[in-house]
Amino acid sequence: MGPPGAGKGTQARFIAEHFGVPAISTGDIFRANVSEGTELGLEAKRFMDAGEYVPDEVTNLMVRNRIDEDDAAKGFLLDGYPRTLAQVEELDGMIAYTGHRLDGVVCLTVDQDEIVSRLLQRAQVEGRADDTEDVIRRRQEVYLEQTEPLTEVYKQRGIVVEVDGMGDVDDVTRRVFEALDGLAES
Ligand code: ADP
Repeated sequence: MGPPGAGKGTQARFIAEHFGVPAISTGDIFRANVSEGTELGLEAKRFMDAGEYVPDEVTNLMVRNRIDEDDAAKGFLLDGYPRTLAQVEELDGMIAYTGHRLDGVVCLTVDQDEIVSRLLQRAQVEGRADDTEDVIRRRQEVYLEQTEPLTEVYKQRGIVVEVDGMGDVDDVTRRVFEALDGLAES
């Protein structure tokens, strides 16, 4: 977890590779659907372009189908999900059904100003439609309102590790693994 631009996608790939599980990114799946012009993509695009969350029913169904695929049987890393309290409950239900367990929640903490400049830079490299200054600001508001409260829920379950997401990518990755080792030992 972490605000837009915290580096979730980058770290998700390293963590997933390390544990030999798929990284499941809701943002990536939505973007793939947008570029393929699927019905799901058309539905999601209006929300994404405005910096709003895609409705829970749409997102939940998509994740439910994805974690049911064979490559997720032995575990998976979620990137960008859950993002609302309703999604937290839904995920609990899904994994109760599939027999998985939530081992840990990595929260990347970052400096707000640094984030905006990272995202504007990414806009130039990747050309994401939602990386304009207004939309970035809206995404940050939505994160603070709807997603940040979730960290409390997971903290109460004792599965949160907070990791400083500032600095070199490699340093952040190292901190993530150290923090996860600490969680496994506790
Ligand atoms: P960010 O860099 O903002 O964290 P993502 O690539 O993870 O971006 O997500 C991009 C957009 O996809 C979000 O702004 C939102 O519209 C949609 N999205 C991704 N995950 C979810 C989710 N769990 N629930 C609702 N909408 C989502």
